[in-house]
Amino acid sequence: MPYVHDTLTRLAKSSPAQTEFYQATEEVLECLRPLFERAPHYHDHSIIERIVEPERQIMFRVSWVDDAGRVQVNKGYRVQFNSALGPYKGGLRFHPSVTSGTIKFLGFEQIFKNALTGLPIGGGKGGSDFDPKGKSDNEIMRFCQSFMSELYRHIGPHTDVPAGDIGVGAREIGYLFGQYKRLTGRYEGVLTGKGLNWGGSLGRKEATGYGAVYFAENMLSAKDESLQGKTCLVSGAGNVAIYTIEKLYELGAKPVTCSDSKGTIHDPNGIDLGLLKQLKEVQRISLESYLHEHPDAHYISARDYPQDGHAVWRIEGDSAFPCATQNELTEADAKALLANGVTCVSEGANMPSTKEAVDRFLEAKIAYGPGKAANAGGVATSQLEMAQNSSMEQWPLEKVDQKLKQIMADIYRQCADTASEFGEPDNLVLGANIAGFRRVADAMIEQGVI
Ligand code: NDP
Repeated sequence: MPYVHDTLTRLAKSSPAQTEFYQATEEVLECLRPLFERAPHYHDHSIIERIVEPERQIMFRVSWVDDAGRVQVNKGYRVQFNSALGPYKGGLRFHPSVTSGTIKFLGFEQIFKNALTGLPIGGGKGGSDFDPKGKSDNEIMRFCQSFMSELYRHIGPHTDVPAGDIGVGAREIGYLFGQYKRLTGRYEGVLTGKGLNWGGSLGRKEATGYGAVYFAENMLSAKDESLQGKTCLVSGAGNVAIYTIEKLYELGAKPVTCSDSKGTIHDPNGIDLGLLKQLKEVQRISLESYLHEHPDAHYISARDYPQDGHAVWRIEGDSAFPCATQNELTEADAKALLANGVTCVSEGANMPSTKEAVDRFLEAKIAYGPGKAANAGGVATSQLEMAQNSSMEQWPLEKVDQKLKQIMADIYRQCADTASEFGEPDNLVLGANIAGFRRVADAMIEQGVI
Protein backbone atom coordinates (compact mmCIF):
# COMPACT_ATOMS: atom_id res chain seq x y z
CA MET A 1 0.00 0.00 0.00
CA PRO A 2 1.70 3.21 -1.19
CA TYR A 3 0.11 5.34 1.57
CA VAL A 4 1.94 3.49 4.37
CA HIS A 5 5.09 2.98 2.33
CA ASP A 6 5.36 6.65 1.31
CA THR A 7 4.81 7.91 4.85
CA LEU A 8 7.50 5.58 6.21
CA THR A 9 9.94 6.59 3.48
CA ARG A 10 9.40 10.27 4.23
CA LEU A 11 9.87 9.61 7.93
CA ALA A 12 13.12 7.71 7.43
CA LYS A 13 14.43 10.72 5.49
CA SER A 14 13.24 13.37 7.93
CA SER A 15 14.29 11.53 11.14
CA PRO A 16 17.45 9.72 9.99
CA ALA A 17 19.08 9.14 13.38
CA GLN A 18 15.89 8.22 15.24
CA THR A 19 15.97 4.46 14.76
CA GLU A 20 13.78 3.55 17.73
CA PHE A 21 11.16 6.08 16.65
CA TYR A 22 11.23 4.65 13.15
CA GLN A 23 10.94 1.09 14.55
CA ALA A 24 7.86 2.07 16.57
CA THR A 25 6.15 3.88 13.69
CA GLU A 26 6.90 1.08 11.24
CA GLU A 27 5.29 -1.49 13.53
CA VAL A 28 2.14 0.58 13.97
CA LEU A 29 1.75 1.65 10.34
CA GLU A 30 2.39 -1.85 8.94
CA CYS A 31 -0.42 -3.16 11.16
CA LEU A 32 -2.79 -0.50 9.83
CA ARG A 33 -2.68 -1.67 6.21
CA PRO A 34 -5.83 -3.85 6.44
CA LEU A 35 -7.68 -1.01 8.19
CA PHE A 36 -6.86 1.47 5.41
CA GLU A 37 -8.16 -0.98 2.83
CA ARG A 38 -11.51 -1.04 4.60
CA ALA A 39 -11.58 2.62 5.67
CA PRO A 40 -9.96 4.81 2.98
CA HIS A 41 -11.27 7.99 4.62
CA TYR A 42 -8.25 7.94 6.98
CA HIS A 43 -6.11 8.55 3.92
CA ASP A 44 -8.37 11.40 2.77
CA HIS A 45 -7.81 13.10 6.13
CA SER A 46 -4.00 12.53 5.97
CA ILE A 47 -4.23 10.96 9.39
CA ILE A 48 -0.96 9.03 9.42
CA GLU A 49 1.06 11.97 8.13
CA ARG A 50 -0.38 13.95 11.04
CA ILE A 51 -0.16 11.26 13.71
CA VAL A 52 3.58 10.64 13.23
CA GLU A 53 4.32 14.35 13.74
CA PRO A 54 4.37 15.52 17.38
CA GLU A 55 2.10 18.49 18.07
CA ARG A 56 4.98 20.10 19.96
CA GLN A 57 8.56 19.23 21.00
CA ILE A 58 10.30 21.12 23.75
CA MET A 59 14.07 20.83 24.20
CA PHE A 60 15.90 22.71 26.89
CA ARG A 61 19.13 23.09 28.79
CA VAL A 62 19.26 21.81 32.37
CA SER A 63 22.15 23.34 34.31
CA TRP A 64 22.77 22.33 37.90
CA VAL A 65 25.60 22.31 40.44
CA ASP A 66 27.05 19.02 41.72
CA ASP A 67 28.27 18.36 45.28
CA ALA A 68 31.81 19.37 44.32
CA GLY A 69 30.54 22.79 43.21
CA ARG A 70 30.99 22.11 39.48
CA VAL A 71 28.36 23.21 36.98
CA GLN A 72 26.84 20.29 35.08
CA VAL A 73 24.71 20.54 31.95
CA ASN A 74 22.14 18.07 30.63
CA LYS A 75 19.54 18.04 27.89
CA GLY A 76 15.84 18.14 28.81
CA TYR A 77 12.93 17.05 26.60
CA ARG A 78 9.15 17.01 26.56
CA VAL A 79 7.33 15.76 23.48
CA GLN A 80 3.64 16.64 23.46
CA PHE A 81 2.66 14.17 20.80
CA ASN A 82 -1.10 14.00 20.50
CA SER A 83 -3.92 15.61 22.47
CA ALA A 84 -6.92 14.32 20.51
CA LEU A 85 -8.18 12.30 23.47
CA GLY A 86 -7.19 14.50 26.40
CA PRO A 87 -4.28 16.24 28.14
CA TYR A 88 -0.85 14.85 27.22
CA LYS A 89 0.07 12.04 29.61
CA GLY A 90 3.28 10.04 29.79
CA GLY A 91 6.36 9.57 31.94
CA LEU A 92 9.73 11.26 32.30
CA ARG A 93 12.86 9.13 31.77
CA PHE A 94 16.22 10.06 33.28
CA HIS A 95 18.91 7.83 31.75
CA PRO A 96 22.20 8.60 29.96
CA SER A 97 20.97 6.81 26.81
CA VAL A 98 18.07 9.27 26.34
CA THR A 99 18.01 11.23 23.05
CA SER A 100 15.26 13.15 21.28
CA GLY A 101 14.60 9.95 19.27
CA THR A 102 14.08 7.89 22.45
CA ILE A 103 11.52 10.36 23.74
CA LYS A 104 9.77 10.49 20.37
CA PHE A 105 9.47 6.70 20.20
CA LEU A 106 8.11 6.53 23.75
CA GLY A 107 5.70 9.40 23.09
CA PHE A 108 4.43 7.77 19.90
CA GLU A 109 3.77 4.45 21.69
CA GLN A 110 2.07 6.35 24.49
CA ILE A 111 -0.62 7.74 22.14
CA PHE A 112 -1.97 4.28 21.34
CA LYS A 113 -1.43 2.86 24.82
CA ASN A 114 -3.42 5.69 26.34
CA ALA A 115 -6.14 5.27 23.73
CA LEU A 116 -6.47 1.58 24.62
CA THR A 117 -7.23 2.41 28.26
CA GLY A 118 -10.48 4.04 27.09
CA LEU A 119 -9.68 7.01 29.36
CA PRO A 120 -9.50 10.70 28.31
CA ILE A 121 -5.70 11.03 27.99
CA GLY A 122 -3.48 12.12 25.11
CA GLY A 123 0.10 10.97 24.52
CA GLY A 124 3.35 12.61 25.60
CA LYS A 125 6.75 11.74 27.04
CA GLY A 126 9.80 13.51 28.36
CA GLY A 127 13.09 13.11 30.10
CA SER A 128 16.77 13.85 30.15
CA ASP A 129 20.16 12.28 29.51
CA PHE A 130 20.89 12.88 33.22
CA ASP A 131 22.15 9.73 34.99
CA PRO A 132 20.75 9.46 38.53
CA LYS A 133 23.13 6.59 39.35
CA GLY A 134 25.79 7.49 41.89
CA LYS A 135 24.29 10.93 42.56
CA SER A 136 23.55 12.12 46.09
CA ASP A 137 19.98 13.01 47.12
CA ASN A 138 20.96 16.68 47.03
CA GLU A 139 22.29 16.38 43.49
CA ILE A 140 19.08 14.64 42.40
CA MET A 141 17.06 17.42 44.03
CA ARG A 142 19.04 20.20 42.37
CA PHE A 143 18.77 18.52 39.00
CA CYS A 144 15.00 18.01 39.37
CA GLN A 145 14.53 21.64 40.44
CA SER A 146 16.44 22.89 37.41
CA PHE A 147 14.54 20.53 35.09
CA MET A 148 11.20 21.78 36.43
CA SER A 149 12.29 25.42 36.21
CA GLU A 150 11.82 25.11 32.45
CA LEU A 151 9.19 22.38 32.26
CA TYR A 152 6.63 24.07 34.54
CA ARG A 153 5.58 26.59 31.88
CA HIS A 154 4.54 23.79 29.50
CA ILE A 155 2.53 21.53 31.84
CA GLY A 156 -0.63 21.69 33.96
CA PRO A 157 -3.45 19.47 35.24
CA HIS A 158 -5.52 20.16 32.11
CA THR A 159 -2.69 20.39 29.55
CA ASP A 160 0.10 17.90 30.27
CA VAL A 161 0.56 15.63 33.29
CA PRO A 162 3.96 13.86 33.43
CA ALA A 163 4.72 10.76 35.55
CA GLY A 164 7.72 8.48 36.22
CA ASP A 165 9.63 6.10 33.97
CA ILE A 166 13.18 4.72 34.06
CA GLY A 167 15.18 6.68 36.64
CA VAL A 168 12.16 8.65 37.84
CA GLY A 169 10.35 7.28 40.89
CA ALA A 170 8.65 8.71 43.98
CA ARG A 171 11.77 10.61 45.11
CA GLU A 172 12.18 12.46 41.79
CA ILE A 173 8.42 13.12 41.45
CA GLY A 174 8.55 14.68 44.93
CA TYR A 175 11.36 17.09 44.03
CA LEU A 176 9.74 17.95 40.69
CA PHE A 177 6.39 18.63 42.35
CA GLY A 178 7.96 20.79 45.05
CA GLN A 179 9.59 23.00 42.46
CA TYR A 180 6.39 23.24 40.37
CA LYS A 181 4.49 24.37 43.48
CA ARG A 182 7.17 26.90 44.38
CA LEU A 183 7.20 28.42 40.87
CA THR A 184 3.45 28.54 40.28
CA GLY A 185 2.11 28.87 43.80
CA ARG A 186 -0.41 26.16 42.95
CA TYR A 187 -1.01 22.81 44.63
CA GLU A 188 -2.59 20.78 41.86
CA GLY A 189 -2.48 17.38 40.17
CA VAL A 190 0.22 18.23 37.65
CA LEU A 191 2.26 15.04 38.14
CA THR A 192 1.27 11.47 38.96
CA GLY A 193 3.18 8.95 41.04
CA LYS A 194 3.10 11.37 43.98
CA GLY A 195 3.69 10.38 47.62
CA LEU A 196 0.72 8.73 49.31
CA ASN A 197 0.24 11.42 51.95
CA TRP A 198 0.30 14.31 49.46
CA GLY A 199 -1.97 13.39 46.58
CA GLY A 200 -0.67 10.04 45.32
CA SER A 201 -2.93 7.09 44.59
CA LEU A 202 -2.72 3.80 46.40
CA GLY A 203 -1.76 1.15 43.87
CA ARG A 204 -0.01 3.50 41.40
CA LYS A 205 3.47 2.22 42.24
CA GLU A 206 2.34 -1.36 41.70
CA ALA A 207 0.09 -0.73 38.70
CA THR A 208 2.33 -1.34 35.67
CA GLY A 209 3.72 -4.63 36.99
CA TYR A 210 0.38 -5.85 38.33
CA GLY A 211 -1.26 -4.87 35.05
CA ALA A 212 1.27 -6.83 32.95
CA VAL A 213 0.49 -9.92 35.02
CA TYR A 214 -3.29 -9.37 34.74
CA PHE A 215 -2.83 -9.06 30.99
CA ALA A 216 -0.96 -12.38 30.92
CA GLU A 217 -3.75 -14.01 32.95
CA ASN A 218 -6.29 -12.76 30.42
CA MET A 219 -4.27 -14.13 27.50
CA LEU A 220 -3.81 -17.48 29.21
CA SER A 221 -7.39 -17.87 30.37
CA ALA A 222 -8.51 -17.47 26.73
CA LYS A 223 -6.53 -20.69 26.17
CA ASP A 224 -7.92 -22.33 29.34
CA GLU A 225 -4.59 -21.92 31.10
CA SER A 226 -3.39 -19.82 34.03
CA LEU A 227 -0.21 -18.64 35.72
CA GLN A 228 -0.78 -20.92 38.70
CA GLY A 229 2.30 -23.10 39.19
CA LYS A 230 4.15 -21.55 36.24
CA THR A 231 7.87 -20.75 36.28
CA CYS A 232 8.30 -17.14 35.14
CA LEU A 233 11.24 -15.21 33.74
CA VAL A 234 11.34 -11.51 34.57
CA SER A 235 13.95 -9.00 33.38
CA GLY A 236 14.68 -5.68 35.11
CA ALA A 237 14.83 -4.92 38.81
CA GLY A 238 13.07 -1.58 38.91
CA ASN A 239 9.52 -0.46 39.56
CA VAL A 240 7.86 -2.57 36.87
CA ALA A 241 9.89 -5.75 37.48
CA ILE A 242 9.43 -5.68 41.27
CA TYR A 243 5.64 -5.43 41.14
CA THR A 244 5.41 -7.95 38.31
CA ILE A 245 7.21 -10.38 40.61
CA GLU A 246 4.93 -9.48 43.53
CA LYS A 247 1.74 -10.16 41.55
CA LEU A 248 3.16 -13.36 40.05
CA TYR A 249 3.63 -14.72 43.58
CA GLU A 250 0.08 -13.65 44.50
CA LEU A 251 -1.29 -15.63 41.56
CA GLY A 252 0.65 -18.78 42.48
CA ALA A 253 3.46 -18.50 39.92
CA LYS A 254 7.18 -18.76 40.63
CA PRO A 255 9.35 -15.91 39.26
CA VAL A 256 12.96 -17.15 39.13
CA THR A 257 14.89 -14.29 37.51
CA CYS A 258 15.46 -10.55 37.61
CA SER A 259 18.22 -8.37 36.13
CA ASP A 260 19.77 -4.92 36.16
CA SER A 261 22.18 -3.20 33.78
CA LYS A 262 25.11 -5.08 35.32
CA GLY A 263 23.79 -8.64 35.41
CA THR A 264 21.13 -11.29 35.95
CA ILE A 265 20.05 -13.24 39.02
CA HIS A 266 18.65 -16.74 38.56
CA ASP A 267 17.24 -18.13 41.78
CA PRO A 268 15.58 -21.51 41.09
CA ASN A 269 13.89 -21.32 44.52
CA GLY A 270 12.06 -18.17 43.45
CA ILE A 271 13.26 -14.55 43.71
CA ASP A 272 13.40 -13.25 47.29
CA LEU A 273 11.08 -10.28 46.82
CA GLY A 274 11.78 -8.67 50.20
CA LEU A 275 15.51 -8.70 49.48
CA LEU A 276 15.01 -7.39 45.95
CA LYS A 277 13.01 -4.42 47.29
CA GLN A 278 15.68 -3.78 49.91
CA LEU A 279 18.49 -3.79 47.31
CA LYS A 280 16.73 -1.72 44.66
CA GLU A 281 14.15 0.49 46.42
CA VAL A 282 16.07 1.24 49.61
CA GLN A 283 19.80 0.75 49.08
CA ARG A 284 19.80 1.32 45.28
CA ILE A 285 22.74 -1.06 44.76
CA SER A 286 23.70 -3.76 42.26
CA LEU A 287 21.87 -7.09 42.15
CA GLU A 288 25.13 -8.90 42.70
CA SER A 289 24.60 -8.31 46.44
CA TYR A 290 21.65 -10.75 46.26
CA LEU A 291 24.26 -13.52 46.54
CA HIS A 292 25.23 -12.43 50.08
CA GLU A 293 21.86 -13.72 51.32
CA HIS A 294 21.36 -16.45 48.71
CA PRO A 295 24.74 -17.96 47.83
CA ASP A 296 22.97 -20.80 45.96
CA ALA A 297 21.47 -18.41 43.41
CA HIS A 298 23.35 -17.79 40.16
CA TYR A 299 24.65 -14.41 39.04
CA ILE A 300 25.48 -13.86 35.36
CA SER A 301 27.41 -10.66 34.83
CA ALA A 302 26.40 -8.69 31.71
CA ARG A 303 30.10 -8.14 31.03
CA ASP A 304 30.71 -11.89 30.85
CA TYR A 305 27.71 -12.49 28.63
CA PRO A 306 29.00 -12.30 25.09
CA GLN A 307 25.97 -13.67 23.26
CA ASP A 308 23.48 -11.65 21.26
CA GLY A 309 20.74 -10.81 23.73
CA HIS A 310 20.02 -11.11 27.42
CA ALA A 311 20.89 -13.92 29.88
CA VAL A 312 17.36 -13.95 31.35
CA TRP A 313 15.87 -15.31 28.15
CA ARG A 314 18.18 -18.34 28.03
CA ILE A 315 16.84 -19.76 31.30
CA GLU A 316 14.04 -22.34 31.26
CA GLY A 317 10.55 -21.15 32.11
CA ASP A 318 6.89 -21.12 31.03
CA SER A 319 6.17 -17.39 30.77
CA ALA A 320 8.34 -14.32 30.15
CA PHE A 321 7.94 -10.72 31.39
CA PRO A 322 10.43 -8.27 29.84
CA CYS A 323 10.42 -5.33 32.28
CA ALA A 324 13.73 -3.49 31.73
CA THR A 325 14.08 -1.45 28.54
CA GLN A 326 13.61 -1.28 24.76
CA ASN A 327 15.10 -3.94 22.46
CA GLU A 328 16.32 -6.06 25.37
CA LEU A 329 14.88 -9.23 23.80
CA THR A 330 16.40 -10.13 20.42
CA GLU A 331 15.49 -12.67 17.77
CA ALA A 332 18.05 -15.11 19.22
CA ASP A 333 16.41 -14.67 22.64
CA ALA A 334 12.96 -15.27 21.16
CA LYS A 335 14.16 -18.48 19.53
CA ALA A 336 15.69 -19.62 22.84
CA LEU A 337 12.46 -18.88 24.72
CA LEU A 338 10.37 -20.78 22.19
CA ALA A 339 12.80 -23.71 22.17
CA ASN A 340 12.48 -23.84 25.97
CA GLY A 341 8.69 -24.06 25.68
CA VAL A 342 7.65 -20.54 26.75
CA THR A 343 3.98 -20.07 25.82
CA CYS A 344 3.30 -16.57 27.13
CA VAL A 345 5.17 -13.25 26.84
CA SER A 346 3.69 -10.14 28.48
CA GLU A 347 5.69 -6.93 28.08
CA GLY A 348 6.02 -4.67 31.13
CA ALA A 349 8.63 -2.52 29.36
CA ASN A 350 8.09 -0.36 26.28
CA MET A 351 9.07 -2.08 23.01
CA PRO A 352 11.40 -4.58 24.78
CA SER A 353 11.31 -7.06 21.88
CA THR A 354 13.01 -6.32 18.57
CA LYS A 355 10.90 -6.49 15.41
CA GLU A 356 12.43 -9.88 14.53
CA ALA A 357 11.67 -11.25 18.01
CA VAL A 358 8.04 -10.14 17.72
CA ASP A 359 7.80 -11.86 14.32
CA ARG A 360 9.00 -15.15 15.90
CA PHE A 361 6.37 -14.91 18.68
CA LEU A 362 3.59 -14.18 16.19
CA GLU A 363 4.65 -17.03 13.90
CA ALA A 364 4.66 -19.43 16.87
CA LYS A 365 1.16 -18.15 17.83
CA ILE A 366 2.02 -18.03 21.52
CA ALA A 367 0.19 -15.66 23.87
CA TYR A 368 2.12 -12.46 23.15
CA GLY A 369 1.04 -9.17 24.78
CA PRO A 370 2.80 -6.12 23.28
CA GLY A 371 3.90 -3.41 25.73
CA LYS A 372 1.46 -0.79 24.55
CA ALA A 373 -1.37 -3.07 25.72
CA ALA A 374 0.22 -5.15 28.50
CA ASN A 375 1.87 -2.25 30.37
CA ALA A 376 -1.00 0.23 30.04
CA GLY A 377 -2.01 -0.39 33.67
CA GLY A 378 0.50 2.22 34.85
CA VAL A 379 -0.89 5.10 32.84
CA ALA A 380 -4.46 3.97 33.50
CA THR A 381 -3.84 4.17 37.25
CA SER A 382 -2.17 7.54 36.76
CA GLN A 383 -5.44 8.71 35.29
CA LEU A 384 -7.21 7.30 38.37
CA GLU A 385 -4.79 9.42 40.45
CA MET A 386 -5.82 12.49 38.42
CA ALA A 387 -9.50 11.67 39.03
CA GLN A 388 -8.88 11.38 42.79
CA ASN A 389 -6.93 14.68 42.80
CA SER A 390 -9.67 16.60 41.04
CA SER A 391 -12.38 15.23 43.35
CA MET A 392 -10.15 15.62 46.47
CA GLU A 393 -10.60 11.93 47.30
CA GLN A 394 -8.34 9.01 48.10
CA TRP A 395 -9.67 5.61 47.11
CA PRO A 396 -8.79 2.42 49.00
CA LEU A 397 -6.26 0.07 47.43
CA GLU A 398 -8.94 -2.56 46.75
CA LYS A 399 -10.96 -0.09 44.66
CA VAL A 400 -7.92 0.97 42.60
CA ASP A 401 -6.79 -2.63 42.09
CA GLN A 402 -10.29 -3.71 41.08
CA LYS A 403 -10.46 -0.92 38.51
CA LEU A 404 -6.98 -1.82 37.22
CA LYS A 405 -7.99 -5.46 36.82
CA GLN A 406 -11.11 -4.45 34.90
CA ILE A 407 -9.18 -2.01 32.68
CA MET A 408 -6.62 -4.73 31.80
CA ALA A 409 -9.43 -7.18 30.99
CA ASP A 410 -11.09 -4.53 28.78
CA ILE A 411 -7.81 -3.77 26.98
CA TYR A 412 -7.24 -7.47 26.36
CA ARG A 413 -10.80 -7.89 25.04
CA GLN A 414 -10.46 -4.87 22.72
CA CYS A 415 -7.17 -6.18 21.30
CA ALA A 416 -8.47 -9.74 20.88
CA ASP A 417 -11.79 -8.65 19.33
CA THR A 418 -10.05 -6.29 16.90
CA ALA A 419 -7.52 -8.98 15.96
CA SER A 420 -10.43 -11.37 15.21
CA GLU A 421 -12.30 -8.68 13.26
CA PHE A 422 -9.27 -8.47 10.94
CA GLY A 423 -8.93 -12.24 10.59
CA GLU A 424 -5.86 -12.76 12.80
CA PRO A 425 -7.26 -13.79 16.20
CA ASP A 426 -3.85 -14.56 17.76
CA ASN A 427 -2.23 -11.31 16.69
CA LEU A 428 -2.62 -8.88 19.60
CA VAL A 429 -0.04 -6.55 18.04
CA LEU A 430 -2.41 -5.99 15.13
CA GLY A 431 -5.38 -5.77 17.52
CA ALA A 432 -3.70 -3.23 19.83
CA ASN A 433 -2.46 -1.01 17.02
CA ILE A 434 -5.73 -0.91 15.09
CA ALA A 435 -7.92 -0.46 18.19
CA GLY A 436 -5.70 2.30 19.62
CA PHE A 437 -5.31 4.04 16.26
CA ARG A 438 -9.03 4.04 15.45
CA ARG A 439 -9.94 5.81 18.68
CA VAL A 440 -7.32 8.54 18.19
CA ALA A 441 -7.86 8.95 14.44
CA ASP A 442 -11.64 9.26 14.78
CA ALA A 443 -11.21 11.97 17.42
CA MET A 444 -8.72 13.80 15.19
CA ILE A 445 -11.13 13.78 12.27
CA GLU A 446 -13.98 15.07 14.43
CA GLN A 447 -11.76 17.89 15.75
CA GLY A 448 -10.85 19.14 12.26
CA VAL A 449 -7.49 19.94 10.69
CA ILE A 450 -5.32 21.28 13.52
P1 NDP B 1 13.28 1.65 36.68
O1 NDP B 1 14.25 2.74 36.51
O2 NDP B 1 12.55 1.55 37.97
O3 NDP B 1 13.95 0.24 36.38
C1 NDP B 1 14.54 -0.05 35.15
C2 NDP B 1 15.26 -1.37 35.27
O4 NDP B 1 15.76 -1.76 33.99
C3 NDP B 1 16.47 -1.32 36.19
O5 NDP B 1 16.62 -2.57 36.78
C4 NDP B 1 17.62 -1.01 35.24
O6 NDP B 1 18.88 -1.47 35.70
C5 NDP B 1 17.19 -1.78 34.01
N1 NDP B 1 17.68 -1.09 32.81
C6 NDP B 1 17.38 0.16 32.39
N2 NDP B 1 18.03 0.48 31.27
C7 NDP B 1 18.77 -0.60 30.98
C8 NDP B 1 19.66 -0.89 29.93
N3 NDP B 1 19.91 0.01 28.94
N4 NDP B 1 20.22 -2.11 29.93
C9 NDP B 1 19.94 -3.00 30.90
N5 NDP B 1 19.10 -2.78 31.92
C10 NDP B 1 18.53 -1.60 31.96
O7 NDP B 1 12.24 1.80 35.48
P2 NDP B 1 10.78 1.18 35.34
O8 NDP B 1 10.71 -0.13 36.01
O9 NDP B 1 9.81 2.24 35.70
O10 NDP B 1 10.67 1.00 33.75
C11 NDP B 1 11.04 -0.22 33.09
C12 NDP B 1 10.38 -0.27 31.73
O11 NDP B 1 8.95 -0.21 31.88
C13 NDP B 1 10.74 0.85 30.77
O12 NDP B 1 10.70 0.37 29.44
C14 NDP B 1 9.58 1.84 30.96
O13 NDP B 1 9.43 2.69 29.84
C15 NDP B 1 8.43 0.85 31.08
N6 NDP B 1 7.22 1.38 31.69
C16 NDP B 1 7.25 1.91 32.96
C17 NDP B 1 6.10 2.36 33.54
C18 NDP B 1 6.05 2.82 34.95
O14 NDP B 1 4.94 3.01 35.46
N7 NDP B 1 7.16 2.99 35.63
C19 NDP B 1 4.82 2.39 32.78
C20 NDP B 1 4.88 1.72 31.50
C21 NDP B 1 6.05 1.27 30.98
P3 NDP B 1 19.72 -0.60 36.76
O15 NDP B 1 19.06 -0.83 38.08
O16 NDP B 1 21.11 -1.16 36.69
O17 NDP B 1 19.62 0.80 36.28
